[in-house]
Amino acid sequence: MRTNVLMMFMATVVVGFMPLCASAKPCALVINSNDQMKFDKSELRFSKKSCPKITLRLNHTGKLAKQIMGHNWVLSETENMQTITTEALKAGPKKDYLPDDRSKIIAHTKMLGGGENDTITIKTSQLKKGGSYSYFCSFPGHAALMKGKLIVE
Ligand code: ZN
Repeated sequence: MRTNVLMMFMATVVVGFMPLCASAKPCALVINSNDQMKFDKSELRFSKKSCPKITLRLNHTGKLAKQIMGHNWVLSETENMQTITTEALKAGPKKDYLPDDRSKIIAHTKMLGGGENDTITIKTSQLKKGGSYSYFCSFPGHAALMKGKLIVE
């Protein structure tokens, strides 16, 4: 008898937690980067209807310094990505590889070294449903591997 009560209690707890797990903060996006010059996701998505704002957290899970293996997360329209990476190279390390003219950049995190993280908030009113948005790291050469799509649903 006691076992049954315990089982019922356990089942209630498990079922009670399931909706929490399923919803898993849809407006909070997390992406990891590492010493192998990679993001762990090639796609991030959110629903504009559910999220007037999204937060984006970038983790650098590696150990290398930002001068050697720096990572940031830069968001732009896909067609502007090439221009931004070219300008980022010119901007150089003192400016964390971000151009002074940020007009083509929708959002960006800080440049991180190993073990660091940064979280930013993005208003989604500026993003169009079905638009083509790309994120990438603006450290020289990294965008070739470190890039992905932000899907607006
Ligand atoms: Zn990088």
